[in-house]
Amino acid sequence: MTRSLRVAFAASTLAAAAVSAQQRPALSNAVRAYVSVDAPVIALTHARVIDGTGAAPRENQTLILNNGIISAIGSSASTGVPAGARTIDLTGKSVIPGLVMVHEHLYYPNGPGVYGQLGESFSRLYLSGGVTTMRTGGNVNGFMDLNMMRLVDAGQKPGPAIDATAPYLNGPNTFIQMRTLKGPEDARRQVQYWTDEGATSLKTYMQITRGELAAAINEAHRRGIKVTGHLCSVTYTEAANLGIDNLEHGFFAATDFVADKQPDECPGQGVGQKTIAALDENGAPFRNLVELLIEKHVAITSTLTVFETFTPGRPRPPGIEVLTPQLKEQFDQNYARTAQNQESIYTTLFPKGMALERAFAKAGGLLIAGTDPTGGGGVIPGFANQRQVELLVDAGFTPLEAISISTLNGAKYLRRDKTVGSIAVMKQADLVVINGNPAANIADIRRVETVFKQGIGYDPAKLIASVQGKAGIW
Ligand SMILES: [Zn+2]
Repeated sequence: MTRSLRVAFAASTLAAAAVSAQQRPALSNAVRAYVSVDAPVIALTHARVIDGTGAAPRENQTLILNNGIISAIGSSASTGVPAGARTIDLTGKSVIPGLVMVHEHLYYPNGPGVYGQLGESFSRLYLSGGVTTMRTGGNVNGFMDLNMMRLVDAGQKPGPAIDATAPYLNGPNTFIQMRTLKGPEDARRQVQYWTDEGATSLKTYMQITRGELAAAINEAHRRGIKVTGHLCSVTYTEAANLGIDNLEHGFFAATDFVADKQPDECPGQGVGQKTIAALDENGAPFRNLVELLIEKHVAITSTLTVFETFTPGRPRPPGIEVLTPQLKEQFDQNYARTAQNQESIYTTLFPKGMALERAFAKAGGLLIAGTDPTGGGGVIPGFANQRQVELLVDAGFTPLEAISISTLNGAKYLRRDKTVGSIAVMKQADLVVINGNPAANIADIRRVETVFKQGIGYDPAKLIASVQGKAGIW
């Protein structure tokens, strides 16, 4: 591209971004019930701006939100507030971009091997925690993720913008809510069907073969759709060479270092995990894998929240009280059992997983973040998204880096960074107002006062109250 063409291209994409971001739907009364701020022009004054790029916070800023777009940002001393604007004084408070998280689910483990479909409660909880864009990381319901994506976009349901995955692409497995692929052509056909139905992402799973994965990637890429995987039968190295875009669960799911790994066979989750727990983040085997992943532009998703629930001695996860009494009791039993498990591999695996993710990011890899509300339960949407940012700080990232991983990095991966993921003029007004300073104390990220999505402010307390004691039913 010549320079002038590049400039013209940049200008046209900026205009397109502004247009698409301005298409705010009329909100239904069901959504309005959670709205606390709605005005054509809003001025947020005297705010600390943490913009999501990793740059140092800027103090005493004024942001002008104009019909859902950030139209100005500057020092409160010199930035004028338009006449008629709804002005909100944020002295002592911070504004971060809406979280963009990429391993979310609209389901939850309601019992052994059974997932309850919780699109209603979970979409509200995600929004309450500051998530304004999310990718679902595999679905076990068929159409709910796709319908929820459309209903949220149409202003009929409260929730984050959704990048909706198709049902898992997997080989023979024991989940009664999961289909079994019949080979590469079948994988291709599944990709065609679900992307025709509107799925915007694909998730491959632990028993897929290399042939099926290759066919799925090929067909998805022909359609401009990205593919991620929680793998086991296929190694990270093999998947990267086949062109996969993203690998889930940091390095916890890598089977690359299993000595007698048989092609297309999952050696069992525990077998791979033993090799990861013993892996040296500075050693050649790991560094060679990282080099390949970076060369092939494979992003890695950190889902420390789900692994924390498997690890003895960790704090009780936040948000358990929104669950139904039965699910709360089930979690309490799991938590007590985990605490007593002296032999748990997670005692060494969890900190090692953190170190490997950090090493990948420090080497230049694209680390993105999600929560994964599966496992044995205890990963509660919204609450867990905030916890995930805290755990990135535990893993050795600065608060500003952790916020950037959980906002702009996710938006870059989803190719939505022209409109969301950071706080900048002409971007969509997806913002989280925090009563505190998460740059100094990351735990302040839990003190969410208002979540702006497309410039409309939602009240997290109302969203949470609407599902209190009911998450598990719908
Ligand atoms: Zn998952």
